[in-house]
Amino acid sequence: MKKLLLLAVSALVCVACSTNKEEKTENPLEKILLAEYVPQNVNNIPSTKVEKAKFPIIDMHSHDYAESDADIQEWIRVMDAVGVEHTAVMHCAWIGRPFEEVAAAYAPYKERFRLWCCFDYSDIDTPEGLQHSLETLERYHEMGAVGIGELGDKGFGDLYARPVEGMGIHIDDPRVKPLLEKCAELKMPVSIHIGEPIWMYLPMDEHNDGLPNGAAWHVDTTDVNCLGYYGLVNTFENAVRDNPNTIFIACHYLNMNHDLVRLGEMLDKYPNMYVDIAARVAESAQTPRATREFLIKYQDRVLFGTDNGMSADMYHNIFRVLETNDEHFYVHDYYYHWYLSGFNLPDEVLEKIYNKNAQRILSEYK
Ligand SMILES: [Zn+2]
Repeated sequence: MKKLLLLAVSALVCVACSTNKEEKTENPLEKILLAEYVPQNVNNIPSTKVEKAKFPIIDMHSHDYAESDADIQEWIRVMDAVGVEHTAVMHCAWIGRPFEEVAAAYAPYKERFRLWCCFDYSDIDTPEGLQHSLETLERYHEMGAVGIGELGDKGFGDLYARPVEGMGIHIDDPRVKPLLEKCAELKMPVSIHIGEPIWMYLPMDEHNDGLPNGAAWHVDTTDVNCLGYYGLVNTFENAVRDNPNTIFIACHYLNMNHDLVRLGEMLDKYPNMYVDIAARVAESAQTPRATREFLIKYQDRVLFGTDNGMSADMYHNIFRVLETNDEHFYVHDYYYHWYLSGFNLPDEVLEKIYNKNAQRILSEYK
């Protein structure tokens, strides 16, 4: 009897549940927006803060983030604390000052910052314009530029260039070839940002695994002037193949974290190609085992880079991913819903990525 009563009450409660619309909308899955989803790790597992890198670092990818001399000095203080010896200050359209001003600002700190410069495409279509671009490159080199970059092409040409954008000028454009050959002659490596992570080129729908960040950096591939991601990769591959004496550094793993097999095949094919790991912490640490395997296999071809400002925490996050075996942790600053895990890289691999590979490239270029 008691059992029957209980069943009847439960049935009534169920009917009430299904008819109570107010209660239905209380379902958190229907209330919480993806943009507001900020999960926290509840697992009782190791959580490591790496305050200082295990080996001295040459940061091959940063920019003129300092707005004053005091900022530069504060940056050096942070670099000392986290173990960065040198930082590449790359020149590009979206941040920082004209090259001459950057050179002047960092001149007192030559031991800590190395300058990189853009290509000058002003009037590049005329022989005089090309001559001017070549002379600018030589002049910047004499002023201390050790490399070229950051060039940047997300589909429409090298729009990172200064003082004018290289609209429609891709890296395999015949107009760029004399400049690439000059880089080989001056022994200046060329650092180039090709595309964006693949999620930025995919439909912005419920199947897009990188949606939270992809939506912010979406590339409009419907524009007839836009080369798609793989079209861009082809321009890069053409340039690397056709200029074997020029060293190319594909920034951000060539934005190919989703296909490390293809990236590895390119590295196998082209000894003049390197990748930097800048600003792809989340994209790499969401597949920790595949990335670890890749970094070990291509340990001589990978360069350390940051590209994300000057804060100590920014460096700490990268060290945690490279050095520790921590798993399932979130760094919400990277704007993804993914959890990350560390690579626990062997010491000899870490040391090559942190400084030895960069040293090898730059030692020829002083
Ligand atoms: Zn950059």
